Amino acid sequence: TDRKRAETIQQIQYRIAQAAVSSANLQDLLTVTRNELSKLIDTSNFFVAFFDKGKDTLREAFSVDEKDEIDEWPASQSLSGLVVKKGATFLLRKEEIEQLLTENHIQLIGARAECWLGVPLTDENVVIGIMVVQSYDNPNAFDRFSAHLMEILSHELVLYIRRERAEKDLVAAKAHAEESERLKSAFLANMSHEIRTPMNAIVGFADMLLDPEILPEERAQFSGIIKSSSDDLLRLINDILDISRIESGNAAVDKGEIRLNGLLTEIELVTRQKLARSGKTHLDLELRMPMPDGLDSIVSDVYILRQVFNNLLDNAIKYTPSGHIIFGYEIPADGRIVFYVTDTGIGIDPQYHDVVFKTFRQANVASHHQFGGTGLGLAICKGSLELLGGKISLDSMPGRGTTFRFSLTFERPRSLNRPIRLQSGSGITEPSKASSFFDWADKKIIVVEDEPSNLEYIKRLLAPTKARLFMCENGASL
Ligand code: ADP
Repeated sequence: TDRKRAETIQQIQYRIAQAAVSSANLQDLLTVTRNELSKLIDTSNFFVAFFDKGKDTLREAFSVDEKDEIDEWPASQSLSGLVVKKGATFLLRKEEIEQLLTENHIQLIGARAECWLGVPLTDENVVIGIMVVQSYDNPNAFDRFSAHLMEILSHELVLYIRRERAEKDLVAAKAHAEESERLKSAFLANMSHEIRTPMNAIVGFADMLLDPEILPEERAQFSGIIKSSSDDLLRLINDILDISRIESGNAAVDKGEIRLNGLLTEIELVTRQKLARSGKTHLDLELRMPMPDGLDSIVSDVYILRQVFNNLLDNAIKYTPSGHIIFGYEIPADGRIVFYVTDTGIGIDPQYHDVVFKTFRQANVASHHQFGGTGLGLAICKGSLELLGGKISLDSMPGRGTTFRFSLTFERPRSLNRPIRLQSGSGITEPSKASSFFDWADKKIIVVEDEPSNLEYIKRLLAPTKARLFMCENGASL
C-alpha cells in the first residue's frame, strides 16, 4: 500500500543518512545505497558516474551491471549525457530510448535496456553526475515511484559528495600550504647563504683595499675578488627579478632576428671564461652548429635564448667534474628547432627529473652546500621558454651525465641577411667600458643623481672622456 511504501522510503532515507555519516568513503556509501534501493526496486544494473565538464565525459564511480563494463564515455553521445545536459530525470522504455536517440543524434553506449531510469546528481543547480538503474529484460521494471525514490536518494548522495570534495580540497590546501612554508624556509636559508657569501667577500676585501700598506698585486687580487663576488650577487638579483616577473605574468617577449651561429659563438666564448674562472679548463667544450653562416637566422627572443643557454651551461660546468660539455642545435624539422646542452657530469636521479624545474627545488638538498645555488635557474628556463611556446626536457642518469633539450618554433626571418637586432636585457647590466674610447673634451654633460656613490661612479666613468660635468641632485636644483 502507499502508506507502507512511504514508511519504507522513510526508513531507507534514514539508513542512508546514517551511512553518510559512518561510511569511510563514497564506495561504501554507494554499496549501502544500492542495497537499500534493492528493497523496493530492481538494482541488478546500477551505476553512478561523475560528469567532467572540461572533457565532456562521464566517468564511472560505482557500477554493477549484468552486461557492460565501461569506465569513461563521451557525454555528448550518450543517454546519460542527455540527463546531465537537461538536468532532469528520464524514465524510458526501449521504444522511447530509440526515438530519443534518433531525435538527438546520439548513439547508445553499451547494451540495450528494456527499461532505463536516470536521475541527475545536482549540487546547487550544477549537474555533477548521474545515478542510473536499468533492466535488460523487464519493460516495466521502473515507474514514477522508482524515479521519486531515486531522486530523494540523489540528494543524500550529493550532500555526501560535497562534503567529501570539500574535505579533499582542504587536505590538498593544507599540504600545499605546508609545502610552500617548507620551501620558503629552505629558500630563505639558502638565500641568506647565497647573499652573505659574496657580500662578506665584498665588504671584507673592500676594507682591505683601504690599507695603504698592501702591495699592488694584492690590490689587483682583492679587486678581482670584489668583482667576481659582485657578479654573483648581480646574477642572484637578476634571477629573483626574472622569476618574479615570470610568476606574476609580467614577463614580456621581445622577438627579433637572431643569427644563431654568432650568438652561440659568443656564448661559447663567455663559457670558456667561466670554465677558466671555476678552474675547469680540463673539461672539453664543444659547440655544434649544423646550419651554415648566413642561413642560420631565426626569429626569436635573443635575451631568453641567451639566458637559457647560460643557465644550462652554468649548471653543466657546476655539476661536471670531468669529461665534456657539448652544446648547440639540431637541423630544424617539422617547424621546430631543438637546442641542447649535454654533459658527462654527476647526473640527476630519475625521481627528481620533474622536480628540478620547479622554483627553489634542487635534486639533492644534501649537495647544496657542495654546489651552492638557489634552485631558480631551471625554473627560469622553463618559465621563459613557455613565454615563447617552447618546451624543455631532460634526459639523465646518475653518474653518467645529463642532457637538457629545449625546442622552439622555427621561424625564419623575411630577409635572411639583416644584422642581428640588439636587444636590451632585463634587470641590471654591467657598466660598459665604452667611455674610455671617447674624446668629449668639447662636450658638457649634466649629471642628475642624488645617490653620492652613484655620482662618484659616474664621475669616474666619464673622467677619461674629458667631458665637462655639471652635477646636481635633482631637477629642481638644476
Ligand atoms: P641551482 O643550480 O641553483 O641549484 P637549478 O634550477 O639551475 O638550480 O637546478 C636545479 C637542480 O637541478 C640543481 O640543484 C641540481 O641538483 C640539478 N641539476 C641541474 N643541472 C644539472 C646538471 N647539468 N647535472 C646534474 N644536476 C643538475
